[in-house]
Amino acid sequence: MTESTIAEAIASGEMPGRVWIYSNYHCNLACSYCLTESSPRSERRELTAEQMLTIAIEAKSLGFTGIGVTGGEPMLLPWLPETVAAMAAHLPVILLTNGTLLGGDRFERAAPLAHPDIAVQISLDSHQPDLNDMARGPDNFDKVVAVVPRLIVSGVRVRIATTTAGPLDSPTLDPLRALVRSLGVRDEDHIVRPIVRRGRADERDLGVVAVARNIPSELTIAADGAFWGSFGPTVRAGRLDTDLLLTRTILPLSIPASTLLATLRGLPEGADASLGIR
Ligand code: SF4
Repeated sequence: MTESTIAEAIASGEMPGRVWIYSNYHCNLACSYCLTESSPRSERRELTAEQMLTIAIEAKSLGFTGIGVTGGEPMLLPWLPETVAAMAAHLPVILLTNGTLLGGDRFERAAPLAHPDIAVQISLDSHQPDLNDMARGPDNFDKVVAVVPRLIVSGVRVRIATTTAGPLDSPTLDPLRALVRSLGVRDEDHIVRPIVRRGRADERDLGVVAVARNIPSELTIAADGAFWGSFGPTVRAGRLDTDLLLTRTILPLSIPASTLLATLRGLPEGADASLGIR
């Protein structure tokens, strides 16, 4: 499959334009529904800064239109902010983080993220501190509510992601929507999404079942390979899930991109994602 075929597939909407990158799998938190069973003890499965920048450069030349960076907690990597800024010189980047490693003296680490083509997406699940912290860990609410306005004032575009076990349009989320608005985040930058039943959520019987047809077919790169969708390279009972593995080859990016497109073309009609997962 040629590079122009990939570019045409992205331009026509046949293949999604975003590439997701799992920078690492370890995390300072251990949330109850974590798709990757991340914790401070997790196997790191890190990509290097050079690999991440190469992915961004090659993604741009293949016609992709954006990059998402997730983990684990990406901000545990000392070089991450500068690398994301370098990637944003090629394509817009969304960086997913729990936001708790930017408090106090560490706030200056966020400086490279004040960039017109970077959005920082931080998790906040409830307007009630105890409910939020039950899922995400002690003091998580206070840390997030403190850092978000600081980031916005310093020029960082912040999105908030809420993960819920309930209906995505439930009125019980209205106080949280108001809180997020009061922190300075625009309504269109507040994303509400379901718990996906993979990883730790599956072990704890939480969330909606997601098979490939439900998961947006965004190319996703992790240290272990390339996957169908950002919910592909999950971890359960300490083992990487390989049901959505496309190929173990991650670079050159044309190889996993071609594999994803060939897989998409092998599907029957009507394979659109349906769970509203973002
Ligand atoms: S959900 Fe995110 S913040 Fe929570 S343990 Fe997993 S990677 Fe860390």
